Amino acid sequence: MCKSKGMFVQFTVAIDGPAAAGKGTIARALADTFGMAHLDTGLLYRAVGRRALDGVPPVIAASTLRHRDIARTDLRTPDVAQAASEAAAIPEVRAALVAFQRDFARREGGAVLDGRDIGTVICPDAEVKLFVTADANTRANRRWQELSQSGVDITEAEVLASIHERDARDASRDAAPMVAAQDAIQLDTSTLTIDEAVAAAQAHVKARQGNQT
Ligand code: C5P
Repeated sequence: MCKSKGMFVQFTVAIDGPAAAGKGTIARALADTFGMAHLDTGLLYRAVGRRALDGVPPVIAASTLRHRDIARTDLRTPDVAQAASEAAAIPEVRAALVAFQRDFARREGGAVLDGRDIGTVICPDAEVKLFVTADANTRANRRWQELSQSGVDITEAEVLASIHERDARDASRDAAPMVAAQDAIQLDTSTLTIDEAVAAAQAHVKARQGNQT
């Protein structure tokens, strides 16, 4: 699957975990530090959810997803997140997005992918697997601050309820449920600063790279 060949030519970092645990921040920082490409796979599902809200059946939306759908600037809203989570429970939607993610993971120079099923389904052979968590109140507070700063009118309690609903759906679905891979390293960011969380993740990547030389 996502095997490394040679000197880190192909090296995949799989980051999974619940909403607003810090996956994206850690993924971007790792990609930056190690010069790897980054794919936020949640954006694929958000783009499908957005098109579903616009009236396109989710399976059609997933199988005809275009770059411009993923580049839309209106994907980071709570209603799109819920629509994404609903679409993501449909096996045919997930199946339509597998090849793109696997191709991305195998690109030369390495890749960091963050999502819910990267270490379990998309890249079971990823060189590094992290499962990033934080307690629900911390996650809700972080996401509420982000949303408020970007002008979304929502209370922290509403964000918490929405996160609980999404996590429960993502973890209980039959198709690629959100679960830590058996060989994933758990990283709880509840009491960590961003710098501390990133440093911990960087250390795991460096250790794995060191093992391969
Ligand atoms: O990561 P983000 O919160 O943007 O993801 C939105 C939704 O997309 C998640 O709640 C989940 O239902 C779905 N998703 C998924 N598998 C992934 C990434 C996201 O099911 N690899």
